[in-house]
Amino acid sequence: MVVVTAPGDHAGAAADAAVTATAGCPLVVRTADCPPVVLLGERSVGVVHAGWRGLRGGVVEQAVAALVDLGDPPRVAHIGPCIRVECYEFVGPERHEMAALYGSAVLGSTATGTPGLDLTAAVIAALHTAGVAQVEDTSGCTACDPRWYSHRKNGDAERMATMAWLEEA
Ligand SMILES: [Zn+2]
Repeated sequence: MVVVTAPGDHAGAAADAAVTATAGCPLVVRTADCPPVVLLGERSVGVVHAGWRGLRGGVVEQAVAALVDLGDPPRVAHIGPCIRVECYEFVGPERHEMAALYGSAVLGSTATGTPGLDLTAAVIAALHTAGVAQVEDTSGCTACDPRWYSHRKNGDAERMATMAWLEEA
């Protein structure tokens, strides 16, 4: 989680989230199955890489809190292309940690009937808990939509980049 206050600040940093209230600082997350999330305030933005480990660690809530600390609570969140529950088998003991954090609705089933994890539902639950009520989610599943790269389904080495920045006023 980094707070960017000048162009080039934390350039290339390995972090699960970045926020800024400074114009001209593009923030990027690279994903191929994990949900990319963009947080939009009035004069601030944030980007989050919201895989299950990050969700378990509270990365979405932390990014929202960082924007609140900048004086601008995010009002809208956008979820980008990510693996959806029908394609995301998830059988580890962490299932129950995720359910304890975000509700049993995150424990779905895959299309073949095996235990799945609904990352999107977990992201939305985290956003709602953090006070972001409006969530836009329209871009589908990385594993079964050929427009997107999927690390899990295809072993793709490529990643999608999700970018957000503030224009100069
Ligand atoms: Zn799918």
